[in-house]
Amino acid sequence: MTFSLSRVLSMAKGDKSKLTREDFDAGPCSFDEIEPGLFLGNLTAATDVDWLKDAGITRILTIDSCPLPRKIQERLPNLIIKYIQMTDMPREDLLTHFEDSYEFIDRALDSDGRVLVHCYFGVSRSATLVIAYIMKKRKLSFVNALQVVKSKRRFVAPNPGFVAQLRLYENMDYGVDSTNVQFKMYRLQIAADKVRKARILPQSCVDLIKPDPALTTMRPEPSVYRCKKCRRIVASASNILPHAPREKQIWRHISVKSVLKDGESYDKLIQRRDDSARVELCDKIYFVEPLAWMPDITHNVEGKLNCPKCNTKLGAYSWIAGSQCPCGSKIAPAFYLVPSKLDWSNAVQNVQVTV
Ligand SMILES: [Zn+2]
Ligand SMILES: [Zn+2]
Repeated sequence: MTFSLSRVLSMAKGDKSKLTREDFDAGPCSFDEIEPGLFLGNLTAATDVDWLKDAGITRILTIDSCPLPRKIQERLPNLIIKYIQMTDMPREDLLTHFEDSYEFIDRALDSDGRVLVHCYFGVSRSATLVIAYIMKKRKLSFVNALQVVKSKRRFVAPNPGFVAQLRLYENMDYGVDSTNVQFKMYRLQIAADKVRKARILPQSCVDLIKPDPALTTMRPEPSVYRCKKCRRIVASASNILPHAPREKQIWRHISVKSVLKDGESYDKLIQRRDDSARVELCDKIYFVEPLAWMPDITHNVEGKLNCPKCNTKLGAYSWIAGSQCPCGSKIAPAFYLVPSKLDWSNAVQNVQVTV
């Protein structure tokens, strides 16, 4: 850590103003070549024009709270820079940038270029993007890709939130699977963080609200939940976000996967409703995705969920505080329906099969 002279003088005078980013530095130029042409390093490396020239760097991927100083681009006009603004906090959404970053790095290496991925220290944020790249490129698990990167840069350490995102990326086979239940919960949590700040659901998250299953004409699902009183469809089986009893149900710790048979989707699991599923899954409350029939959920933090046809109270929602299931699970954000107010029906049972 270094301090400027004026800083030291003002501190000596008892100035209690806060330390700013300029009061710290990222340390000496530090970088490691993780695979041929792919460098992982700190901010000092990214601003060391002589080193960038010597190393033949053609692209820089910056993930930091501020972009690189303009003089870098001025002195190296052919350099291509991609900037992602992000702090090193576990709840930052880095997963959303994995695919773009992969393309950016891969394009450099494909054309015999050399790419530097950096953040402030080259330990957590930038290391996460490099690990994600190695995972997808070599089809490696998170643990094995981490080993590869650590063997070249021993102190890399993604923060716990980024580790969870890398594990989710592995579960989704190195891509984004919008039907993956864990991913749905992950995105709901990000949306809830935004609702907490803005008190309204931002436009970028509106796609989380799924179509009204009663109005869906495209490939309606056979398994649905209806209002017990008026029989209106209020959820499809695939809208259910399953949870295990007493689970601390944030997306990182979901244990539902443990009861899945090989290659089975979560939707099938809920539809199966056999003994093995019942043992592991709680059915005291149904947590569901936000649905288009639910009123006011984009501009209220919490409220009741009444049947859109007969107005019977079916459940409630809470973006921020979430909800506690009688089993002990704490879910946030929570959109839930009470099973005693619903009927489950499988349309296939009602269809006359003609052979
Ligand atoms: Zn009803
Ligand atoms: Zn429960």
